[in-house]
Amino acid sequence: MKEDLVVCGLHARPGEKIHAYVDACGTDEKIPVTLIHGRYAGKRLVITAGVHGAEYPGIIAASKLAREIDPEQLTGEIVIFHVMNIGGFYGRVAALVPEDGKNLNRVFPGTANGTVTERIADFLTNILSNEVDFYLDLHSGDLHEDLLPHAFYSVFTSPEAREKSMEIAKKLDISCMVHSHSDNGSLFGASLHDVPGLLIERGGNGIWADYDAEAYKRDLYRILYHLAMYYTDYAQKPLPNVPDYHTSIPLYAEADGMWMPRIGPGNFVKEGDLIGYITDAFGNVRQAVAAKEEGLLLCVLSSLSVKKGGFLSYSAVRQEAGHQH
Ligand SMILES: [Zn+2]
Repeated sequence: MKEDLVVCGLHARPGEKIHAYVDACGTDEKIPVTLIHGRYAGKRLVITAGVHGAEYPGIIAASKLAREIDPEQLTGEIVIFHVMNIGGFYGRVAALVPEDGKNLNRVFPGTANGTVTERIADFLTNILSNEVDFYLDLHSGDLHEDLLPHAFYSVFTSPEAREKSMEIAKKLDISCMVHSHSDNGSLFGASLHDVPGLLIERGGNGIWADYDAEAYKRDLYRILYHLAMYYTDYAQKPLPNVPDYHTSIPLYAEADGMWMPRIGPGNFVKEGDLIGYITDAFGNVRQAVAAKEEGLLLCVLSSLSVKKGGFLSYSAVRQEAGHQH
């Protein structure tokens, strides 16, 4: 007899799907969760969306997947946390958890008696400690971010787990995969328990875009297929090669002003190539923003306003971090 899938005190029998709300941080904000317990024994996949509450295509894709998966056809177990940052979602807040003003993807592994954001991170780190075979964190460009679909995997897991992450990333409909050197994001929380996984980025700008959500969902089905969990006929068809980049290099504003991008995500840049200008209200240039490395431009600020120190862009580059020429 297969045992129940038990998560956060919820029990799902084999062949059962459960939708519920769970308490992650001791506030009134409850996280919607779906447990899908497959009829057949297999891998355990944990999916989170809405770590940043205004990144919609990942949230929509998670919701579609939760509705569509038939547990009678599923091998293994899927646990979906639909919106990790409920306060940010309802507040339409970019990047931050409004209760304490922190970025959930910068506080892992979190702490049980910390602020709201730190408690949510601790909650998720504990979930990931419980025999998880693969972890997916579904992001999109934020309200102010335009980006090309791509995926990150952590350098902090074992080589075996890293290889598993890369093997799955190779199967996706994305522009590239990039090593994540972050020691405080969700992937780092997973790496503490050596769980392979990906942080995926697709869509953005706060747009409810069904084509992004559908493309996202197709990638989720590809992942399920390659984890031997669920069959869909298109999932095994090969896609173009997914190049692997060693790191991502961000650029930040050196002045307050108006951001005037000259190129967007998807462009290859060489060192010194112009990405955009920051001007004052009268059109006078305060900063000409140029690429610091040769690489693929993945994400560019799409907001007109920018403050000194604010995010402008990031590129995927081949050099390891700290080995810049
Ligand atoms: Zn995000």
